[in-house]
Amino acid sequence: LTDAFKRAVVILETIESKGYEAYFVGGCVRDFLLKRKIKDIDIASSAPPTVIQQLFDKVIPVGIDHGTVIVRYEGISYEITTFRQDGTYSDQRHPDDVTFISTIEEDLKRRDFTMNAIAMDKNGAMIDLFEGKSDLKKQIIRSVGDAKKRFKEDPLRIIRALRFSSQLGFSIETNTLAQMKQLNKEVETVAIERLTNEWTKLFQGTFVQHSIAYVIDIEIDQYMPIFKENRSLLQNLPHPLTPFHSFADVIAFFHYLDPSIHIQTWAKEWKCSNDIKNKAINLYDALIYYEENGVDNLLVYRLQQAYFRPFLQLLKVIWKDTESTLTLLQNKKECLAIQSRNELAIDGHDVMKMFPNKKRGPWMNRIIEQVEQEIVFNRLHNTKIAIKEWIRCHPPEIN
Ligand code: ATP
Ligand code: MG
Repeated sequence: LTDAFKRAVVILETIESKGYEAYFVGGCVRDFLLKRKIKDIDIASSAPPTVIQQLFDKVIPVGIDHGTVIVRYEGISYEITTFRQDGTYSDQRHPDDVTFISTIEEDLKRRDFTMNAIAMDKNGAMIDLFEGKSDLKKQIIRSVGDAKKRFKEDPLRIIRALRFSSQLGFSIETNTLAQMKQLNKEVETVAIERLTNEWTKLFQGTFVQHSIAYVIDIEIDQYMPIFKENRSLLQNLPHPLTPFHSFADVIAFFHYLDPSIHIQTWAKEWKCSNDIKNKAINLYDALIYYEENGVDNLLVYRLQQAYFRPFLQLLKVIWKDTESTLTLLQNKKECLAIQSRNELAIDGHDVMKMFPNKKRGPWMNRIIEQVEQEIVFNRLHNTKIAIKEWIRCHPPEIN
């Protein structure tokens, strides 16, 4: 076992000491077998949530009705889910009813793909009822049980298959793929937030190009917001397509490809947070600025540190720029006279005092922006005296 699992063994032992069963399950077992980095450790247990709550000090009841709690232990979160069987998914969000059951075997049956349906005990012994290990070796994504039934039950699994193919570069087993194509329309019934979540991971995957080929093949784009009215967006993507950083740069990218579809529309139709929307707007503005001016001080000043990576991904996809651009961006950033508006030697009050008869208004922001630019381009010193002198020579147009 790797260190991450070793640290978690005591959790399994604590549960077992009360006579219940507990196993590592899902993505962590899959990634362990693939020798990939493990994100978070999920545990399946026969103990009901109430028992888990009694056993550990810090328990967050995130989905108690569905049998899921989070246990915080030595600074790490573990999701512990009681063995369960899912009912139908009529709201396409959560199963209508879950039945708690007593065996891990039953719990593994409800899972989506064979590679995600392997359980591992505290000694590293595997319970692999559906030949998940063999599929991992063959690099195949295969539904657990009857593919048709499983995709009907929860059509989100169609997008999950695609996102795993993007993350792992695996093929989708022939019958599984055939059913995905057959049932593609069903995804229309799935809550958009769940779709956006999986599509984000799809766009972030190392093998995104491979996965988009499946998207086109099963024609799932005709049931996705925006793509359905703009089929050419996914059909004519640049090659090679490199992974995106977040949904914000995905939006900025598609808006760049087709400016007639507004960022607001993307954010609304895909139910993105305001944070993603604003990030997309900033990234798009930076793209347009870069197209005209290349990398200069002002571009770097406007791109906050957090935007470097996603911005670079965009440059890679659109202009095949390389990692060296990132170094250039970072070096330029370090040499800037100011990093942000807070570092300006004057503020809004100082500007107001210079024009005591004027009412506050958008002119103030304009003048501060101009001052920022002058300083960023090293045409003006960041001192009160110098800035005031500059403003006097460039009096604001006030309206
Ligand atoms: P990641 O590494 O990206 O977290 P994961 O496999 O852990 O991948 P999760 O979405 O965290 O994926 O789900 C954890 C496990 O729960 C999956 O491995 C799978 O066994 C099961 N699972 C999740 N969503 C579904 C679903 N819609 N239908 C069936 N099983 C699911
Ligand atoms: Mg997971």
